[in-house]
Amino acid sequence: MTKSASKKSTKAAKVPTIGIVSLGCPKALVDSERILTHLRAEGYQISPSYDGAEVVIVNTCGFLDSARDESLGAIGEAMAENGKVIVTGCLGAEPDVIREKFPNVLAITGPQKYESVVQAVHNAVPPAHDPFVDLVPPEGIKLTPRHYAYLKISEGCNNRCTFCIIPKLRGDLVSRPAADVLREAERLVKAGVKELLVISQDTSAYGVDVKYAESDWQNRKVRAKFYDLAKELGELGAWVRLHYVYPYPHVDEVVELMAQGKVLPYLDVPFQHASPAVLKNMKRPGNSDKVLERIKAWRKICPDLAIRSTFIVGFPGETEEQFEELLTFIKAAEIDRAGCFKYEPVTGATSEELNLPAVPEDVKEDRWHRFMAAQQDVSAKRLQRLVGRTIPVIIDEVRPDVVVARSQFDAPEVDGTVLLKPFKGAKAGEIVQAKITHALEYDLRGEVG
Ligand code: SF4
Repeated sequence: MTKSASKKSTKAAKVPTIGIVSLGCPKALVDSERILTHLRAEGYQISPSYDGAEVVIVNTCGFLDSARDESLGAIGEAMAENGKVIVTGCLGAEPDVIREKFPNVLAITGPQKYESVVQAVHNAVPPAHDPFVDLVPPEGIKLTPRHYAYLKISEGCNNRCTFCIIPKLRGDLVSRPAADVLREAERLVKAGVKELLVISQDTSAYGVDVKYAESDWQNRKVRAKFYDLAKELGELGAWVRLHYVYPYPHVDEVVELMAQGKVLPYLDVPFQHASPAVLKNMKRPGNSDKVLERIKAWRKICPDLAIRSTFIVGFPGETEEQFEELLTFIKAAEIDRAGCFKYEPVTGATSEELNLPAVPEDVKEDRWHRFMAAQQDVSAKRLQRLVGRTIPVIIDEVRPDVVVARSQFDAPEVDGTVLLKPFKGAKAGEIVQAKITHALEYDLRGEVG
Protein backbone atom coordinates (compact mmCIF):
# COMPACT_ATOMS: atom_id res chain seq x y z
CA MET A 1 0.00 0.00 0.00
CA THR A 2 1.33 3.49 -0.79
CA LYS A 3 1.76 6.16 1.87
CA SER A 4 -0.98 8.36 0.46
CA ALA A 5 -3.31 5.39 0.21
CA SER A 6 -2.90 4.47 3.86
CA LYS A 7 -3.36 8.10 4.86
CA LYS A 8 -6.62 8.30 2.98
CA SER A 9 -7.87 5.02 4.33
CA THR A 10 -7.43 6.11 7.95
CA LYS A 11 -9.73 9.06 7.31
CA ALA A 12 -12.40 6.99 5.61
CA ALA A 13 -14.88 4.58 7.10
CA LYS A 14 -13.71 0.97 7.40
CA VAL A 15 -12.17 -0.18 4.11
CA PRO A 16 -13.75 -3.39 2.82
CA THR A 17 -11.09 -6.06 2.49
CA ILE A 18 -11.06 -9.26 0.47
CA GLY A 19 -8.68 -12.17 0.02
CA ILE A 20 -8.14 -14.27 -3.10
CA VAL A 21 -6.75 -17.73 -3.70
CA SER A 22 -5.95 -18.22 -7.39
CA LEU A 23 -5.43 -21.77 -8.65
CA GLY A 24 -4.85 -23.22 -12.10
CA CYS A 25 -3.32 -22.02 -15.32
CA PRO A 26 -2.20 -18.56 -16.51
CA LYS A 27 -5.66 -18.09 -18.01
CA ALA A 28 -7.20 -18.41 -14.55
CA LEU A 29 -4.59 -15.98 -13.22
CA VAL A 30 -5.75 -13.42 -15.77
CA ASP A 31 -9.35 -13.91 -14.57
CA SER A 32 -8.23 -13.28 -10.98
CA GLU A 33 -6.43 -10.12 -12.05
CA ARG A 34 -9.58 -8.83 -13.75
CA ILE A 35 -11.70 -9.49 -10.66
CA LEU A 36 -9.15 -7.76 -8.41
CA THR A 37 -8.83 -4.77 -10.73
CA HIS A 38 -12.59 -4.31 -10.69
CA LEU A 39 -12.81 -4.60 -6.92
CA ARG A 40 -9.85 -2.28 -6.30
CA ALA A 41 -11.54 0.27 -8.54
CA GLU A 42 -14.46 0.14 -6.12
CA GLY A 43 -12.23 0.78 -3.13
CA TYR A 44 -11.69 -2.77 -1.84
CA GLN A 45 -8.36 -3.63 -0.27
CA ILE A 46 -6.66 -6.96 -0.88
CA SER A 47 -5.52 -8.90 2.18
CA PRO A 48 -2.58 -11.29 1.86
CA SER A 49 -3.91 -13.41 4.76
CA TYR A 50 -7.17 -15.17 5.64
CA ASP A 51 -7.31 -13.25 8.92
CA GLY A 52 -7.38 -9.82 7.38
CA ALA A 53 -10.05 -10.62 4.77
CA GLU A 54 -13.78 -10.16 5.28
CA VAL A 55 -14.48 -12.53 2.44
CA VAL A 56 -12.25 -14.86 0.41
CA ILE A 57 -12.62 -15.55 -3.33
CA VAL A 58 -11.32 -18.96 -4.42
CA ASN A 59 -10.67 -19.06 -8.18
CA THR A 60 -10.67 -22.78 -8.93
CA CYS A 61 -9.38 -25.10 -11.63
CA GLY A 62 -11.47 -28.08 -12.71
CA PHE A 63 -9.42 -29.49 -15.55
CA LEU A 64 -7.90 -32.66 -14.13
CA ASP A 65 -9.34 -34.65 -11.26
CA SER A 66 -6.20 -33.81 -9.25
CA ALA A 67 -6.84 -30.09 -9.93
CA ARG A 68 -10.44 -30.53 -8.78
CA ASP A 69 -9.18 -32.11 -5.57
CA GLU A 70 -6.73 -29.25 -5.09
CA SER A 71 -9.56 -26.76 -5.66
CA LEU A 72 -11.85 -28.51 -3.18
CA GLY A 73 -8.95 -28.54 -0.70
CA ALA A 74 -8.44 -24.80 -1.18
CA ILE A 75 -12.16 -24.13 -0.62
CA GLY A 76 -12.03 -26.28 2.53
CA GLU A 77 -9.00 -24.36 3.82
CA ALA A 78 -10.63 -20.97 3.13
CA MET A 79 -13.83 -22.15 4.86
CA ALA A 80 -11.87 -23.33 7.91
CA GLU A 81 -9.62 -20.26 8.12
CA ASN A 82 -12.09 -17.55 7.20
CA GLY A 83 -15.58 -19.00 6.74
CA LYS A 84 -16.88 -16.46 4.19
CA VAL A 85 -16.04 -17.89 0.80
CA ILE A 86 -17.05 -17.16 -2.81
CA VAL A 87 -16.07 -19.79 -5.36
CA THR A 88 -15.44 -18.99 -9.02
CA GLY A 89 -13.47 -20.44 -11.96
CA CYS A 90 -13.70 -23.73 -13.81
CA LEU A 91 -14.94 -25.85 -10.91
CA GLY A 92 -17.63 -23.22 -10.33
CA ALA A 93 -19.32 -24.66 -13.44
CA GLU A 94 -20.23 -27.64 -11.22
CA PRO A 95 -21.95 -26.02 -8.23
CA ASP A 96 -23.43 -29.32 -7.01
CA VAL A 97 -19.98 -30.84 -6.46
CA ILE A 98 -19.02 -27.84 -4.32
CA ARG A 99 -22.33 -27.51 -2.44
CA GLU A 100 -22.28 -31.18 -1.53
CA LYS A 101 -18.99 -30.71 0.35
CA PHE A 102 -19.35 -27.10 1.42
CA PRO A 103 -23.03 -26.20 1.74
CA ASN A 104 -22.16 -22.89 3.43
CA VAL A 105 -20.12 -21.21 0.71
CA LEU A 106 -21.63 -17.78 0.07
CA ALA A 107 -21.82 -17.99 -3.73
CA ILE A 108 -20.61 -20.08 -6.64
CA THR A 109 -20.04 -18.64 -10.10
CA GLY A 110 -18.61 -20.21 -13.24
CA PRO A 111 -15.50 -19.22 -15.23
CA GLN A 112 -15.33 -15.64 -16.58
CA LYS A 113 -18.38 -14.59 -14.62
CA TYR A 114 -16.65 -11.45 -13.40
CA GLU A 115 -19.88 -9.55 -12.84
CA SER A 116 -21.38 -12.34 -10.71
CA VAL A 117 -18.24 -12.57 -8.58
CA VAL A 118 -18.25 -8.83 -8.03
CA GLN A 119 -21.98 -8.93 -7.18
CA ALA A 120 -21.37 -11.74 -4.70
CA VAL A 121 -18.60 -9.69 -3.06
CA HIS A 122 -20.94 -6.66 -2.86
CA ASN A 123 -23.57 -8.84 -1.15
CA ALA A 124 -21.07 -10.16 1.39
CA VAL A 125 -19.11 -6.95 2.02
CA PRO A 126 -20.66 -3.80 0.54
CA PRO A 127 -18.24 -1.42 -1.19
CA ALA A 128 -17.12 1.73 0.62
CA HIS A 129 -19.17 4.83 -0.18
CA ASP A 130 -16.11 6.76 -1.19
CA PRO A 131 -14.03 4.44 -3.32
CA PHE A 132 -10.46 5.54 -3.89
CA VAL A 133 -10.55 4.89 -7.57
CA ASP A 134 -7.16 6.58 -7.89
CA LEU A 135 -5.61 3.63 -6.08
CA VAL A 136 -5.90 1.48 -9.17
CA PRO A 137 -2.86 1.71 -11.40
CA PRO A 138 -3.73 2.19 -15.10
CA GLU A 139 -2.54 -1.31 -16.00
CA GLY A 140 -4.92 -2.90 -13.48
CA ILE A 141 -3.91 -5.21 -10.66
CA LYS A 142 -1.43 -7.83 -11.73
CA LEU A 143 -0.54 -11.00 -9.90
CA THR A 144 2.59 -11.50 -12.01
CA PRO A 145 5.83 -9.53 -11.36
CA ARG A 146 5.67 -6.03 -12.73
CA HIS A 147 7.80 -6.64 -15.81
CA TYR A 148 5.73 -9.33 -17.51
CA ALA A 149 2.01 -9.76 -17.97
CA TYR A 150 -0.36 -12.28 -19.48
CA LEU A 151 -2.59 -10.96 -22.25
CA LYS A 152 -5.69 -13.03 -22.84
CA ILE A 153 -6.98 -12.65 -26.40
CA SER A 154 -9.96 -15.02 -26.37
CA GLU A 155 -12.03 -17.34 -24.21
CA GLY A 156 -13.25 -20.87 -24.92
CA CYS A 157 -12.32 -23.30 -27.66
CA ASN A 158 -13.87 -24.77 -30.82
CA ASN A 159 -11.87 -28.02 -30.60
CA ARG A 160 -13.14 -31.10 -28.84
CA CYS A 161 -10.08 -33.00 -27.63
CA THR A 162 -11.37 -36.09 -25.87
CA PHE A 163 -9.28 -35.62 -22.71
CA CYS A 164 -10.38 -32.03 -22.20
CA ILE A 165 -13.45 -30.49 -20.64
CA ILE A 166 -12.52 -26.86 -21.20
CA PRO A 167 -15.05 -26.34 -24.03
CA LYS A 168 -17.72 -27.73 -21.70
CA LEU A 169 -16.63 -25.39 -18.94
CA ARG A 170 -15.78 -22.31 -20.97
CA GLY A 171 -17.81 -22.74 -24.15
CA ASP A 172 -16.84 -22.15 -27.78
CA LEU A 173 -14.23 -19.64 -28.91
CA VAL A 174 -15.05 -15.99 -28.22
CA SER A 175 -12.35 -13.60 -29.46
CA ARG A 176 -11.80 -10.12 -28.07
CA PRO A 177 -11.73 -7.29 -30.62
CA ALA A 178 -8.14 -6.63 -31.72
CA ALA A 179 -8.33 -2.97 -30.62
CA ASP A 180 -9.36 -4.03 -27.10
CA VAL A 181 -6.39 -6.36 -26.81
CA LEU A 182 -4.04 -3.73 -28.20
CA ARG A 183 -5.32 -1.05 -25.83
CA GLU A 184 -4.76 -3.36 -22.87
CA ALA A 185 -1.29 -4.24 -24.16
CA GLU A 186 -0.42 -0.58 -24.67
CA ARG A 187 -1.55 0.27 -21.12
CA LEU A 188 0.61 -2.53 -19.75
CA VAL A 189 3.68 -1.42 -21.69
CA LYS A 190 3.19 2.21 -20.58
CA ALA A 191 3.05 0.96 -16.99
CA GLY A 192 6.45 -0.69 -17.35
CA VAL A 193 5.66 -4.20 -18.58
CA LYS A 194 8.53 -5.46 -20.75
CA GLU A 195 7.15 -8.81 -21.81
CA LEU A 196 3.63 -9.68 -22.99
CA LEU A 197 2.61 -13.33 -22.83
CA VAL A 198 -0.24 -13.92 -25.25
CA ILE A 199 -2.58 -16.63 -24.02
CA SER A 200 -5.90 -18.24 -24.93
CA GLN A 201 -7.00 -21.84 -25.43
CA ASP A 202 -6.09 -21.79 -29.12
CA THR A 203 -4.17 -18.65 -30.09
CA SER A 204 -3.84 -19.49 -33.78
CA ALA A 205 -7.67 -19.70 -34.07
CA TYR A 206 -7.99 -16.11 -32.85
CA GLY A 207 -10.76 -14.25 -34.67
CA VAL A 208 -12.29 -17.25 -36.47
CA ASP A 209 -15.55 -16.80 -34.50
CA VAL A 210 -15.90 -13.12 -35.43
CA LYS A 211 -14.80 -13.69 -39.04
CA TYR A 212 -11.67 -11.65 -38.38
CA ALA A 213 -13.73 -8.52 -37.70
CA GLU A 214 -11.89 -5.22 -37.91
CA SER A 215 -11.73 -2.70 -35.08
CA ASP A 216 -10.26 0.81 -34.82
CA TRP A 217 -6.76 1.14 -33.49
CA GLN A 218 -4.63 4.28 -33.84
CA ASN A 219 -6.68 5.68 -36.72
CA ARG A 220 -6.65 2.50 -38.73
CA LYS A 221 -8.51 -0.79 -38.92
CA VAL A 222 -6.95 -3.92 -37.47
CA ARG A 223 -8.38 -7.38 -38.15
CA ALA A 224 -8.93 -9.86 -35.33
CA LYS A 225 -6.45 -12.22 -36.97
CA PHE A 226 -3.49 -14.02 -35.46
CA TYR A 227 -0.91 -12.51 -37.83
CA ASP A 228 -2.35 -8.98 -37.73
CA LEU A 229 -2.55 -8.97 -33.95
CA ALA A 230 0.98 -10.39 -33.53
CA LYS A 231 2.33 -7.74 -35.92
CA GLU A 232 0.63 -4.88 -34.08
CA LEU A 233 1.70 -6.19 -30.68
CA GLY A 234 5.23 -6.35 -32.04
CA GLU A 235 5.14 -2.58 -32.59
CA LEU A 236 4.58 -1.76 -28.92
CA GLY A 237 8.21 -2.07 -27.86
CA ALA A 238 7.87 -5.06 -25.52
CA TRP A 239 8.83 -8.69 -25.91
CA VAL A 240 5.83 -10.59 -27.30
CA ARG A 241 5.64 -14.30 -26.53
CA LEU A 242 3.02 -16.53 -28.14
CA HIS A 243 1.48 -19.40 -26.21
CA TYR A 244 -0.93 -22.19 -27.26
CA VAL A 245 -0.39 -21.98 -30.99
CA TYR A 246 -1.42 -24.88 -33.24
CA PRO A 247 0.70 -25.79 -36.27
CA TYR A 248 -1.73 -24.48 -38.91
CA PRO A 249 -0.24 -23.25 -42.21
CA HIS A 250 -0.97 -19.59 -41.42
CA VAL A 251 1.48 -19.79 -38.49
CA ASP A 252 4.31 -19.67 -41.07
CA GLU A 253 3.81 -15.94 -41.63
CA VAL A 254 3.98 -15.30 -37.88
CA VAL A 255 7.33 -17.11 -37.84
CA GLU A 256 8.45 -14.49 -40.42
CA LEU A 257 7.68 -11.83 -37.80
CA MET A 258 9.97 -13.74 -35.44
CA ALA A 259 12.76 -13.74 -38.01
CA GLN A 260 12.29 -9.94 -38.32
CA GLY A 261 12.61 -9.58 -34.55
CA LYS A 262 9.05 -8.27 -34.11
CA VAL A 263 7.90 -11.10 -31.84
CA LEU A 264 10.04 -13.49 -29.82
CA PRO A 265 11.44 -16.56 -31.62
CA TYR A 266 9.37 -18.84 -29.40
CA LEU A 267 6.30 -20.91 -30.05
CA ASP A 268 4.36 -22.85 -27.47
CA VAL A 269 2.64 -25.59 -29.47
CA PRO A 270 0.73 -28.13 -27.36
CA PHE A 271 1.26 -31.23 -29.52
CA GLN A 272 0.11 -33.68 -26.79
CA HIS A 273 1.32 -36.72 -28.75
CA ALA A 274 2.91 -37.77 -32.02
CA SER A 275 1.43 -41.19 -32.79
CA PRO A 276 -1.38 -40.79 -35.36
CA ALA A 277 -3.41 -43.50 -33.61
CA VAL A 278 -3.21 -41.83 -30.21
CA LEU A 279 -3.89 -38.42 -31.72
CA LYS A 280 -6.97 -39.87 -33.42
CA ASN A 281 -8.21 -41.16 -30.08
CA MET A 282 -7.50 -37.76 -28.60
CA LYS A 283 -9.48 -36.24 -31.50
CA ARG A 284 -6.61 -34.03 -32.48
CA PRO A 285 -5.26 -33.48 -35.98
CA GLY A 286 -2.15 -35.56 -36.38
CA ASN A 287 0.37 -36.30 -39.03
CA SER A 288 3.78 -36.19 -37.40
CA ASP A 289 5.62 -36.25 -40.76
CA LYS A 290 3.81 -33.13 -41.84
CA VAL A 291 4.42 -31.52 -38.46
CA LEU A 292 8.14 -32.32 -38.74
CA GLU A 293 8.22 -30.75 -42.20
CA ARG A 294 6.47 -27.67 -40.85
CA ILE A 295 8.93 -27.34 -37.96
CA LYS A 296 11.84 -27.68 -40.39
CA ALA A 297 10.33 -24.96 -42.55
CA TRP A 298 9.86 -22.71 -39.51
CA ARG A 299 13.48 -23.17 -38.47
CA LYS A 300 14.58 -22.35 -42.00
CA ILE A 301 12.72 -19.05 -41.73
CA CYS A 302 13.86 -18.42 -38.15
CA PRO A 303 16.86 -20.61 -37.24
CA ASP A 304 16.78 -19.62 -33.57
CA LEU A 305 13.12 -20.58 -33.07
CA ALA A 306 12.56 -22.36 -29.74
CA ILE A 307 9.60 -24.69 -29.51
CA ARG A 308 7.87 -25.48 -26.28
CA SER A 309 5.20 -28.14 -26.05
CA THR A 310 3.16 -30.27 -23.72
CA PHE A 311 2.55 -34.00 -24.04
CA ILE A 312 0.41 -36.64 -22.39
CA VAL A 313 1.76 -40.13 -21.77
CA GLY A 314 -0.38 -43.11 -20.83
CA PHE A 315 -3.49 -42.04 -22.75
CA PRO A 316 -5.94 -45.00 -22.81
CA GLY A 317 -4.84 -47.59 -25.36
CA GLU A 318 -1.32 -46.12 -25.80
CA THR A 319 0.98 -49.01 -26.73
CA GLU A 320 4.74 -49.24 -26.21
CA GLU A 321 5.29 -48.67 -29.97
CA GLN A 322 3.07 -45.60 -29.95
CA PHE A 323 4.94 -44.22 -26.96
CA GLU A 324 8.22 -44.79 -28.79
CA GLU A 325 6.84 -42.85 -31.76
CA LEU A 326 6.46 -39.96 -29.35
CA LEU A 327 10.09 -40.25 -28.19
CA THR A 328 11.30 -40.38 -31.79
CA PHE A 329 9.25 -37.28 -32.56
CA ILE A 330 10.58 -35.09 -29.76
CA LYS A 331 14.13 -35.97 -30.78
CA ALA A 332 13.53 -35.41 -34.51
CA ALA A 333 11.60 -32.19 -33.93
CA GLU A 334 14.18 -31.00 -31.36
CA ILE A 335 11.53 -29.79 -28.98
CA ASP A 336 13.44 -27.30 -26.83
CA ARG A 337 11.13 -27.39 -23.82
CA ALA A 338 8.40 -29.82 -22.91
CA GLY A 339 5.97 -30.44 -20.12
CA CYS A 340 4.79 -34.01 -19.77
CA PHE A 341 1.65 -35.15 -17.97
CA LYS A 342 0.57 -38.63 -17.06
CA TYR A 343 -2.96 -39.13 -18.35
CA GLU A 344 -5.59 -38.84 -15.67
CA PRO A 345 -9.27 -39.56 -16.17
CA VAL A 346 -11.26 -36.35 -16.08
CA THR A 347 -14.90 -36.49 -15.08
CA GLY A 348 -16.97 -35.46 -18.10
CA ALA A 349 -14.20 -36.01 -20.67
CA THR A 350 -15.19 -38.15 -23.64
CA SER A 351 -11.89 -40.09 -23.51
CA GLU A 352 -13.52 -42.11 -20.74
CA GLU A 353 -16.26 -43.24 -23.15
CA LEU A 354 -13.86 -44.60 -25.76
CA ASN A 355 -13.67 -47.99 -24.04
CA LEU A 356 -9.94 -48.15 -24.53
CA PRO A 357 -7.81 -50.11 -22.06
CA ALA A 358 -6.34 -47.95 -19.31
CA VAL A 359 -2.55 -47.86 -19.17
CA PRO A 360 -1.42 -49.19 -15.75
CA GLU A 361 -0.05 -46.56 -13.37
CA ASP A 362 3.43 -48.11 -13.19
CA VAL A 363 3.68 -48.10 -17.00
CA LYS A 364 2.60 -44.46 -17.10
CA GLU A 365 5.21 -43.65 -14.48
CA ASP A 366 7.92 -45.47 -16.42
CA ARG A 367 6.98 -43.71 -19.68
CA TRP A 368 6.95 -40.35 -17.95
CA HIS A 369 10.52 -40.89 -16.70
CA ARG A 370 11.70 -42.07 -20.10
CA PHE A 371 10.07 -39.07 -21.75
CA MET A 372 11.69 -36.64 -19.31
CA ALA A 373 15.12 -38.24 -19.78
CA ALA A 374 14.82 -38.04 -23.57
CA GLN A 375 13.64 -34.44 -23.41
CA GLN A 376 16.46 -33.50 -21.06
CA ASP A 377 18.97 -34.73 -23.66
CA VAL A 378 17.28 -32.69 -26.39
CA SER A 379 17.16 -29.61 -24.16
CA ALA A 380 20.84 -29.91 -23.21
CA LYS A 381 21.83 -30.36 -26.85
CA ARG A 382 19.75 -27.38 -28.01
CA LEU A 383 21.17 -25.11 -25.31
CA GLN A 384 24.74 -25.82 -26.48
CA ARG A 385 24.11 -23.67 -29.56
CA LEU A 386 23.95 -20.61 -27.32
CA VAL A 387 27.31 -21.06 -25.57
CA GLY A 388 29.73 -18.30 -26.57
CA ARG A 389 26.96 -16.08 -27.91
CA THR A 390 25.90 -12.73 -26.45
CA ILE A 391 22.12 -12.58 -26.23
CA PRO A 392 19.48 -10.32 -24.68
CA VAL A 393 18.08 -11.58 -21.37
CA ILE A 394 15.39 -10.19 -19.09
CA ILE A 395 16.15 -10.08 -15.37
CA ASP A 396 13.48 -11.78 -13.25
CA GLU A 397 15.11 -11.63 -9.84
CA VAL A 398 18.23 -10.21 -8.21
CA ARG A 399 19.59 -12.30 -5.33
CA PRO A 400 22.80 -11.64 -3.38
CA ASP A 401 24.60 -14.58 -5.01
CA VAL A 402 22.99 -14.75 -8.46
CA VAL A 403 20.94 -12.73 -10.93
CA VAL A 404 18.14 -14.89 -12.34
CA ALA A 405 17.32 -13.93 -15.91
CA ARG A 406 15.65 -15.47 -18.95
CA SER A 407 16.49 -15.55 -22.62
CA GLN A 408 14.00 -14.94 -25.42
CA PHE A 409 13.80 -18.72 -25.73
CA ASP A 410 12.27 -19.27 -22.30
CA ALA A 411 8.92 -18.27 -20.82
CA PRO A 412 8.57 -17.38 -17.14
CA GLU A 413 7.49 -20.04 -14.66
CA VAL A 414 7.58 -22.99 -17.08
CA ASP A 415 10.94 -22.89 -18.89
CA GLY A 416 14.62 -22.51 -18.04
CA THR A 417 16.65 -19.55 -16.78
CA VAL A 418 19.93 -17.79 -17.42
CA LEU A 419 21.91 -17.62 -14.18
CA LEU A 420 24.16 -14.58 -14.21
CA LYS A 421 27.07 -13.63 -11.96
CA PRO A 422 25.93 -10.71 -9.78
CA PHE A 423 26.74 -7.37 -11.40
CA LYS A 424 26.39 -3.72 -10.45
CA GLY A 425 23.10 -2.11 -11.40
CA ALA A 426 21.23 -5.41 -11.93
CA LYS A 427 17.50 -4.70 -11.64
CA ALA A 428 14.47 -6.92 -12.12
CA GLY A 429 12.67 -6.13 -15.36
CA GLU A 430 15.75 -4.81 -17.17
CA ILE A 431 16.81 -6.33 -20.48
CA VAL A 432 20.60 -6.68 -20.72
CA GLN A 433 23.08 -8.35 -23.07
CA ALA A 434 24.62 -11.46 -21.51
CA LYS A 435 27.47 -13.63 -22.72
CA ILE A 436 26.54 -17.29 -22.32
CA THR A 437 29.41 -19.22 -20.77
CA HIS A 438 27.90 -22.64 -19.94
CA ALA A 439 24.86 -24.71 -20.81
CA LEU A 440 23.38 -27.01 -18.18
CA GLU A 441 20.50 -29.42 -18.83
CA TYR A 442 17.74 -26.84 -18.69
CA ASP A 443 19.47 -23.61 -17.66
CA LEU A 444 22.27 -21.43 -18.95
CA ARG A 445 25.02 -19.60 -17.11
CA GLY A 446 26.41 -16.30 -18.24
CA GLU A 447 27.82 -12.92 -17.41
CA VAL A 448 27.16 -9.29 -18.22
CA GLY A 449 29.86 -6.85 -19.32
S1 SF4 B 1 -7.56 -27.34 -27.95
FE1 SF4 B 1 -8.24 -29.26 -27.04
S2 SF4 B 1 -7.04 -29.35 -25.12
FE2 SF4 B 1 -7.00 -27.22 -25.79
S3 SF4 B 1 -8.73 -26.26 -24.76
FE3 SF4 B 1 -9.44 -26.87 -26.79
S4 SF4 B 1 -10.37 -28.88 -26.45
FE4 SF4 B 1 -9.07 -28.45 -24.67
